This record gives sequence, structure tokens and C-alpha cells, in this order.
Amino acid sequence: MAPEANVCVVQDKLSCHAWRKHAQARRWGDNVLPSLIHPFMRFQREWNTGAQVDSIEPCMCSQHHHILKIICVHMEYLEDIDLVVCSRRPAAIQLVSQGLFPCSPLAPTLAVSMDMLEFVSDLFVNMAPNE
Ligand SMILES: [Zn+2]
Repeated sequence: MAPEANVCVVQDKLSCHAWRKHAQARRWGDNVLPSLIHPFMRFQREWNTGAQVDSIEPCMCSQHHHILKIICVHMEYLEDIDLVVCSRRPAAIQLVSQGLFPCSPLAPTLAVSMDMLEFVSDLFVNMAPNE
């Protein structure tokens, strides 16, 4: 969790919940999503050419590493993975490199496969409005 997310200062009329949601939206837009563009493009290129998707090699940096337990939702199955993350290798970049999208910007507990996201997107675009 981000350091500023731990501090909830009610300012003006924003509730703590609204403040956290706003801070998370800002983090997605300013930091995380721009950093995912190149890993996503690399994943798509490898996926479309049928090349082997990069496996995650252990990070050898001197930063503090910790393990995140993440549930991955694929089209046909669920998978529990342990992801070793540090500031040089954030979870979001590692997940997108493997074709998964994280549910939160810093410490996700759930990730959904790109296939599943594309399926759901197509489903809701083509679904009858009264469903
Ligand atoms: Zn590292």
C-alpha cells in the first residue's frame, strides 16, 4: 500500500474512501498505466507471433523483495501464484508481461488474463441492454 494511502486526512467534503479512490485513480493514471504500455506491447507481439512468453527470472537487485500471493483468473481455470516483487520489478509489470492484468496498482491480490478481459469486453458490447 502506498505511504500516502495509509494517511487519511479528511479535507473539505471528501470522505476517506473517496480520498483513497481518488489517490488510487491518480496512481493508475500517472504512474502504473504508462509503465505498462511497453510490457503490454511486448506481450502482444510475442502472443501474436506464437513466441514463448517471457518467464520471470529472479531479480538480483539489492532492494527489499517481498512475495505477493495472487489469484489469476484464466478462461478455463484459476491459478494461485507467488510473485516476488521489488521496486525495480513491480507486480503490475510482471503480471502484464505474463498476459495478466492486476486488480490494483501496487499490491494486487487478483489478476485477470487478457483473454478473459477481451471476452468480457466483447460480451458487454454485444449483450442486449436489458440483460
Ligand atoms: Zn529486485
